Amino acid sequence: MNSTWLEFLIETDYSNPTAFGLLALGLFVIIMGRYVLMAGLFYLYFYEWDADTWNDRKLSTKPRPTGQVRKEIQWSAINSAIFAVVGALGVVAFQQGYTAVYTDIQAYPLWYVPLSLGLSLFLHETYYYWLHRLMHQPRLYRLVHQVHHDSLTSSPWTSFSFHPVEGLLEAIILPVIVMVLPLHTSVIAAQLTLMILSATINHLDIEIFPKNWLGTRIGRFFIGATHHSLHHRQFRFNYGLYFTFWDKWGKTESPLFRKEFDNRKRIENRG
Ligand SMILES: [Zn+2]
Ligand SMILES: [Zn+2]
Repeated sequence: MNSTWLEFLIETDYSNPTAFGLLALGLFVIIMGRYVLMAGLFYLYFYEWDADTWNDRKLSTKPRPTGQVRKEIQWSAINSAIFAVVGALGVVAFQQGYTAVYTDIQAYPLWYVPLSLGLSLFLHETYYYWLHRLMHQPRLYRLVHQVHHDSLTSSPWTSFSFHPVEGLLEAIILPVIVMVLPLHTSVIAAQLTLMILSATINHLDIEIFPKNWLGTRIGRFFIGATHHSLHHRQFRFNYGLYFTFWDKWGKTESPLFRKEFDNRKRIENRG
């Protein structure tokens, strides 16, 4: 992140409503813009420009109903606004000294930078996995989480499409983490980038990881399109966000995951 831009952002006084509104509006444009850009580029590349290469790797055979993408973009716009307001409140909380965010990389040992990213991702994963399982309880599912599952066949446009309550619960976790865990601003930027990249890849509905990926030390820890496509098709498995470990520990990994991943496409027989 450009340091002058960052300095300007964190040194401006947001105590009057106009300045706060402008900050939230600016964050909304950035958050919504990155969603459109990211989902749009993934969609164009995998579904249009290079469609011939990827067509036989599509995981779901159900066609997307007309209007699905439009609805997903509408929900994503609402969530972008929620993330923008929460983000703006986070900037103010930082200015007021309520967070453990630091800007001087020397403030902690350098080894703490990757460690803090790992810890923050672990906390986010743990929070999301259990929240996600809770949201699959029938009442909460109908009230909140069903919006996300309206997309039976997901696409990059599904990555930010959920009910505003779910959006709010997702938006507050990083500000809560930084209340207790010291994070450098670059670690926050890295985590946000990983969050966006992972959500887009996981909703692609086309497996893009290499065939031997699950056999590698790193690959087997990451959720990808096959893993999350099974969540959208089977509902009761694969609740994780970035990583597979909670689904393994919680015995909620789909029995079809390994087979479908190795097969590189959907297996007709549902488990
Ligand atoms: Zn779900
Ligand atoms: Zn999903």
